[in-house]
Amino acid sequence: MIKSVAKSLLLCCSIFGFACTQSTSESRESVFPKGEKITNNNFTGTAYLQMLIEADSLNPTSVGSVTFEPGARTKWHSHPGGQILLAIAGIGYYQEKGKPLQILRKGDAVKCPPNVLHWHGASPDSAFIQVAVTNTQNGSTQWFEAVTDKEYKQ
Ligand code: MN
Repeated sequence: MIKSVAKSLLLCCSIFGFACTQSTSESRESVFPKGEKITNNNFTGTAYLQMLIEADSLNPTSVGSVTFEPGARTKWHSHPGGQILLAIAGIGYYQEKGKPLQILRKGDAVKCPPNVLHWHGASPDSAFIQVAVTNTQNGSTQWFEAVTDKEYKQ
C-alpha cells in the first residue's frame, strides 16, 4: 500500500515536472547579489564582485562573492595569508602552479595555502560563482601574469 502510494507520488511528480521545476528555480536563485563588474586588471574576461565582509584589525578576513562569466578567470596570484574558496554555482576551475587543474562544482571547498601561486575562474562553457574567504593578516594579494589560453585550455 505504502509502496504504491509512493509510486503514484513519484509518477505525479514526474508527470507534472515537480522535481524538475524545483531544481530549475533553485539554480536560478543566487545566494548572494552578483555585485559590480570588476574593472581592475587582475582578471581575464568578465567577472563581478559582491563584497560581503571587509577585513578589519580584529578579524582580518575578507569575504566576497565572485561571479565569473564562462571563460573568465583571475590572473596568477598568491595570498600571503591563504584563501578558502567555496563553490556556490556553476562549474569552475582552480589550479596551483605545477599541479593539475581542479574542477569545482557547487558545494566544493578548496583551501589555498599561503603564498602558493594559483588562479581560479569559470570553465569555458559554464559561469561559476565562488565565495572567496581571504586571510589578509600577512598582507594583500600579490598579482602576477595572466593565465594564457594555452594554460587555461590544457
Ligand atoms: Mn586566489
